[in-house]
Amino acid sequence: MRLLVATRNAGKLREIRDLLGAEGIEAVGLAELPDAPEVEEDADTFLGNARRKAHTLAEATGLPVLADDSGLAVEALGGKPGVWSARYAGPDATDEDNNRKLLSELSAIAPEGRGAAFVCAMVLAVPGNGEFTAEGRVLGRILQAPRGTRGFGYDPLFLVEGTDWTLAEMELAEKNALSHRARALRALLPRVLALRGA
Ligand code: IMP
Repeated sequence: MRLLVATRNAGKLREIRDLLGAEGIEAVGLAELPDAPEVEEDADTFLGNARRKAHTLAEATGLPVLADDSGLAVEALGGKPGVWSARYAGPDATDEDNNRKLLSELSAIAPEGRGAAFVCAMVLAVPGNGEFTAEGRVLGRILQAPRGTRGFGYDPLFLVEGTDWTLAEMELAEKNALSHRARALRALLPRVLALRGA
């Protein structure tokens, strides 16, 4: 069974593939479907963006589509960067640019005021059979300097609550045991597995 994962982000695809591969589901990324349409991510909620991506691509390709929209919500910044996480430092920002901007915005905030959450809204759109949605979160705190080299995005700055590790210091399997994306995907997994018999 082929499932289109609506992302060009190699880090996200690696995590989702790792979770689905164990279930015998082949996850295809957008990089492998060059004719798939670009979908504007201009909704003001994670769920709005994930829905738009899932439905546009399911209609265009006829494949079941798993779309996520995710990002970092920092308490001291009123929930920012939020849906703008990928473009926080500008339209062509790299992960390093975004991390630098986050550190600078929080430079006056003490460790106890740096609470944050990664949030993931995930939508499974099945051609002819509607949609299923889920949300996952992981709580933590933004460090004053990066730690670790794994993962992607803001991982090196995000200390996971209840651990001494950033997401970038964890192995893929450790991140996938607790991440926002893994939690959302686990909630949708029964719906994804049901596609195998459809
Ligand atoms: P999206 O592709 O619009 O969902 O943007 C997601 C952005 O949020 C990424 O580019 C990262 O900046 C950030 N992000 C989402 N999930 C993670 C994660 O697991 N680790 C680190 N950064 C993440």
